[in-house]
Amino acid sequence: MTVIVVGAGLAGLTAATALAAEGIEVTVLEARDRVGGRTQGIEVAPGQWADAGAAYLGERHTELKALITRLGLATAPTTMTGQSRFAVSSATESVDGRFPPLNAIALGEMFELLDELTKSVRADAPWLTPDAERLDRLTAAEWAESNLHHPDARTFFPLFLGEMMAADPADVSVLHMAFYLSSGGGIRYLNAFKGGAQEDRVDGGAHRLSELLAAKLGDRVRLSEPVTLVEQTGDGVKVRTGTGVYEGSRVVIAVPPLLADSIDYSPALPAPRSSNVTARGCAVKVHLVYPKPLWRDHGLSGWSVSADGPLLSTVDDSPPGGVGVLTGFVTGAEARTFAALSEADQRAAVLAQARGLFPQLPDPIGYHVTDWVNADYSRGCYAALFGPGDWLRNGPHLTRPHERVHWAGTETSTEFFGLLEGAIRSGHRAAAEITSAVR
Ligand SMILES: Cc1cc2nc3c(=O)[nH]c(=O)nc-3n(C[C@H](O)[C@H](O)[C@H](O)COP(=O)(O)OP(=O)(O)OC[C@H]3O[C@@H](n4cnc5c(N)ncnc54)[C@H](O)[C@@H]3O)c2cc1C
Repeated sequence: MTVIVVGAGLAGLTAATALAAEGIEVTVLEARDRVGGRTQGIEVAPGQWADAGAAYLGERHTELKALITRLGLATAPTTMTGQSRFAVSSATESVDGRFPPLNAIALGEMFELLDELTKSVRADAPWLTPDAERLDRLTAAEWAESNLHHPDARTFFPLFLGEMMAADPADVSVLHMAFYLSSGGGIRYLNAFKGGAQEDRVDGGAHRLSELLAAKLGDRVRLSEPVTLVEQTGDGVKVRTGTGVYEGSRVVIAVPPLLADSIDYSPALPAPRSSNVTARGCAVKVHLVYPKPLWRDHGLSGWSVSADGPLLSTVDDSPPGGVGVLTGFVTGAEARTFAALSEADQRAAVLAQARGLFPQLPDPIGYHVTDWVNADYSRGCYAALFGPGDWLRNGPHLTRPHERVHWAGTETSTEFFGLLEGAIRSGHRAAAEITSAVR
């Protein structure tokens, strides 16, 4: 028996590895000319890597941590000592810690409201949440409009959502926002460096995970094979790519929902995986490279948050003992605007902002932009954003096999949805479905 896995991101490669370990033949078909999907390495100096895609992980990401160990990789702590820089009011200020210099009561109340929402949601099945219909109908922007009254809370809410989910508040339902925060371990865990979901990075880059998994699978992984059609026959599946047809007994589709829907299925799927309100999620990552982490000499952590972009935030992602790297995040509506600019205009805007935030620093010696907004084979960065109605309509079908078609990908995991951990867990689930069906 051969199982065909579509997509060589972490979910697809996890599923393929687990199936191969059970003695099942696998073929992995990947559209791009590389593996890793939403993880990607950038060589910021010879032999020194930064993450152009996913980067951060924490203690609760147990499957990811186990995989890192199994593959002989190590983690490096995210550095967060020194003052933060905030440009969220009229002046740019240095502040101890990461709490913005805005009205603390107003932000405290906002986080309490978000916490209540997060606790009210059924993370294992959001569509079964009491009041799910109302929460799924409202956008996060509408929720903010009626619940956040203080101007500082209104300023900070889109920045918070941009940082957490790369989302514009108008793009996600309240149910999805609350589910995402709950699925990832709650607001405090998701938002925290020390002890939280952003505590560590994979030393050498998160893309190494997929590269090493793919190397073990060898020529079972086929690159530059975009799948266009999945046809179920009497006792098997035929999977068509740009170059040929692969035959197997089952298939795992391990791609984001918007891309799963761009594949044709015969027989047709009982329900689509996405809708016209499912948004891609919008992130552009900018890496500014310095000879060393110079901001540390000035008592700064490299962390900054700005209300007027393009960079929403910057963080110190310097490889241990190497060059200095500030990673800038452009997210949400700002990312769409930024991605449409010319390279020269992008660069001018970023450098002007960096000079304002960190006047003590010289201009960077290296500059890299990774545009996930226009990445055709991702369409969901950090992850797909479920808009109004999506969870009630599509949620119940997300993991349900369509006869011999099984589903993986971080967007099919109700645990750590949208994260590397969710991708791995989804791959294990899909592989377990198949091994138990076969037995
Ligand atoms: C900028 C950014 C920052 C992020 N930060 C973090 C972070 O700090 N921590 C974290 O845990 N997560 C983070 N994420 C999210 C994380 O990257 C994803 O959750 C995870 O990588 C998803 O893995 P996946 O295998 O489900 O999907 P993908 O990685 O998207 O893999 C799907 C694969 O399928 C391929 N494919 C698509 N269509 C087809 C087709 N028709 N035929 C064949 N192949 C196809 C794609 O090319 C891709 O390789 C971030 C993502 C981005 C973009």
